[in-house]
Amino acid sequence: IWLEAQANLKQVLTEQTYTTWIEPLKFLGATADTVVIEVPSVFFQKWVTEKYLSMIKEVLSAITSKNYHIEFHVADPQPESAEPKVEKEPKAKGKEKDKEKEQDKEREKDKEPVKDKKNDLVPNLNSKYTFESFVSGPSNQFAYAASQAVANKPATNYNPLFIYGGVGLGKTHLVNAIGNQILAKNPKAKICYYSSEKFMNEMINSLRYKKMDEFRNKFRKMDLLLIDDIQFMAGKEATQEEFFHTFNALYESHKQIVVTSDKFPKDIPGLEERLRSRFEWGLIADIQPPGVETKVAILKKKSDMHAVNLPDDVALFLAEGATSNIRELEGMLIRLEAFASLTGQEITLGMAKEVMKDIIVEKTRDISVEMIQKTVAEHFRIKLSELKSDKRIKTLVVPRQIAIYICRELTKASYPEIGEKFGGKDHSTIIHSVKKIEKQLAADADLKATVEDIKKKLFT
Ligand code: ADP
Ligand code: MG
Repeated sequence: IWLEAQANLKQVLTEQTYTTWIEPLKFLGATADTVVIEVPSVFFQKWVTEKYLSMIKEVLSAITSKNYHIEFHVADPQPESAEPKVEKEPKAKGKEKDKEKEQDKEREKDKEPVKDKKNDLVPNLNSKYTFESFVSGPSNQFAYAASQAVANKPATNYNPLFIYGGVGLGKTHLVNAIGNQILAKNPKAKICYYSSEKFMNEMINSLRYKKMDEFRNKFRKMDLLLIDDIQFMAGKEATQEEFFHTFNALYESHKQIVVTSDKFPKDIPGLEERLRSRFEWGLIADIQPPGVETKVAILKKKSDMHAVNLPDDVALFLAEGATSNIRELEGMLIRLEAFASLTGQEITLGMAKEVMKDIIVEKTRDISVEMIQKTVAEHFRIKLSELKSDKRIKTLVVPRQIAIYICRELTKASYPEIGEKFGGKDHSTIIHSVKKIEKQLAADADLKATVEDIKKKLFT
């Protein structure tokens, strides 16, 4: 039944979700009313329970028309980092491992402590987020270099490291890369990645079950603590208080702390002053929205990683059409790749335009001098001939200058070409008009609104 259930789930879930969360589940057995499934970690179990348990149950009951109860068993607590140890000293460590297993079995009877013990060991890093898979460009160079420096020499120069930047610009990726690199060099390093929400939830649970000491000790043992999205701690005083003490303990024992946020420390409302000032002790690095070149480079890298051929013109089309959120950019690429693979075609610009037609609204609509003249004349209720004339009454001069300004902004026409189309004016008159409006726009909100209004009419 499990194979069938997995096959069904594969159809309803995205491929990524399926391979990440469902594929690793192992069927251990079933009784009359219970299905037993092995999960790789406690974290995994929590996640699957939270997100996919009801779906799994539904699928099982659809197949068997029975309502199974699902029981999870956590596999060896940390198979990956345990492996190398075993290789080095097979006998001693092997025995220890067995012992650990036995102890674990014993503890299983008494569930809570086991969970906590295992939670301790899960670094909770996303192994896909590495420095190798990160594309650096002018927008993120500072944060990238700072992260590498921290990963190479933790707790020396930049402690804490505070990375801030908008949504989807790579903060979570970078902090995971720091953790992954340190762990790769030193598998025994005690590293933990926490979103500030998870930190808060665990703290609340510890308070409830009177396990604050355990909670504190766990954090204070870390060599590297990564806290993502600290802005969510805003206004949560108890959480900030606890984090403040954790921070101090780690800082004093020269352990590295990395924090991310969507804003500069001073701009996070509801963040206590003492935390804010501590963030300023170290290095604050920003990530800015990527330019088109960086976006193209990211698309190229991701398509290479997926072993998909993405032509340059398509990459440019996507990069120019996307917002600065790289998650959205990735989403576009995945959608395009899926389309290409489902239809068995190579990716082309035409295909990209078709697939993205609802997402990327083509900005470069061809707007002509004539269209602008017509729209401006209608807007001010004057005649087209008056607009093009040399009459120097104010009610004509202003619309004329606005029209000229917009022509310069939205068309490729040169100054002489524009002059030609405005009744044969020389190019210095045109330049003067453009400069004049440019200058006034900075100070005159009404004028600005008028120009915006006309442009809107042109685009609809
Ligand atoms: P944030 O935490 O800042 O909201 P994430 O780190 O979650 O953003 O990044 C969103 C997605 O974009 C992730 O899948 C990440 O791998 C990818 N990404 C962001 N920046 C880069 C980059 N410079 N190179 C490669 N991938 C990136
Ligand atoms: Mg993030």
